[in-house]
Amino acid sequence: MPRRYIVHVDIDAFFAAVEVLLDPSLQGKPVIVGGLPHERGVASTCSYEARKFGVHSGMPLRKCYQLCPEGVFVRGNYQVYQAFSERFFRVLHAATPDTEEASLDEAYLELTRCGHIYPSFPAAARDIKRQVEREIGVTVSVGAAPNKILAKLATRRAKPAGFFEIREGEEETYLRGLGIEALPGIGPKAQVVLRLMNIHKIGELWELPRTTLHTLFGQGGDDIYLQSRGIDSRPLVTRTLPKSVSRETTFLEDLWDRRLLLAHLAYLCDRLTLALREDRLYAHVIEVKARYADFKTEIKRRLVLSPLQDMGKIYKIAEELFLELFSGSRLALRLVGVKVSDLVRVRPLSLFEPYSERPERLGRALDQVRDKYGFGSVLTAREKMLDAVYAFEPRRGYVLKTASLTK
Ligand SMILES: [Mg+2]
Repeated sequence: MPRRYIVHVDIDAFFAAVEVLLDPSLQGKPVIVGGLPHERGVASTCSYEARKFGVHSGMPLRKCYQLCPEGVFVRGNYQVYQAFSERFFRVLHAATPDTEEASLDEAYLELTRCGHIYPSFPAAARDIKRQVEREIGVTVSVGAAPNKILAKLATRRAKPAGFFEIREGEEETYLRGLGIEALPGIGPKAQVVLRLMNIHKIGELWELPRTTLHTLFGQGGDDIYLQSRGIDSRPLVTRTLPKSVSRETTFLEDLWDRRLLLAHLAYLCDRLTLALREDRLYAHVIEVKARYADFKTEIKRRLVLSPLQDMGKIYKIAEELFLELFSGSRLALRLVGVKVSDLVRVRPLSLFEPYSERPERLGRALDQVRDKYGFGSVLTAREKMLDAVYAFEPRRGYVLKTASLTK
């Protein structure tokens, strides 16, 4: 197996950096994103100037204000950050398809397969860093190493705006002096346990046999054992974006009843948005297809600027498009379909609760119930109208005529 070369790229103080780009007068000032000083909630990002005052992300805003009263507090705009994030990933995907989007402003790139394009791996990593900084206008930190965990630790060292490489054979030198909290496998509880055993540095952790760690932390103990030695064989999770997702069905017999047609459409939207959530996709284009009794097919589509995943919103647009098509028709329909395209993949952030989190959380709750009780366990009243036409299975939902296209 060829030696791996993994590059971890992370935008420095992402939200704060974007705010400075949008308002250059903030340059050099302590910027705190997440809310105004008197508001509840926590800081989601602090600029490096702000960090000098001791504030950090996750800190309550009031506390930030106490420590840094001269700070510039901004609420932030998730949609803007999302747009920057999409540009960030476009640059990275152009550099190599072996790109894992780890969060809104963070990615792993595996250069193992494309080393021949550049004079050397480090030269490639530095080049990617320059490209991102030029295209996006923010500084990034880049770490390089033979695996993911070391690459991420290297980025920590590179911050802010630097490049740092951990070469094969240098792992121990680099890891020895790091605090145990640097390892992702060591959560707050494990930290307490280890500190009680007077273990504070990764080097001190090496003294513990694997069996001891396993006894203390179970499977997690094995992870700690490997991580502390810089061993990590995880591949990158790269997923290419599908071009579109669609669901359509032919009817048992041609349909004229508008309410029943909309029930089909709602059901198809439900299945489709489930697939979007599973793949963390959001769509810019919604399209409805209708085929008439004479086999003529018509399509209507709409572009939305802020991409959608939510069932309620996608259905509403699909319904409008469908009614535009159907209201002029004198024929019954034999097929209806819904398709979304221009897909983007974005991850919700944990610290920053954006405006659109609620429908997403609702969607996730819905998925949990359905995982347990089956797709048919939760349906809207509109979808329930299909009871009159189709057999119903609690696990699978309705058995439509074109079942393969509705999964
Ligand atoms: Mg970052």
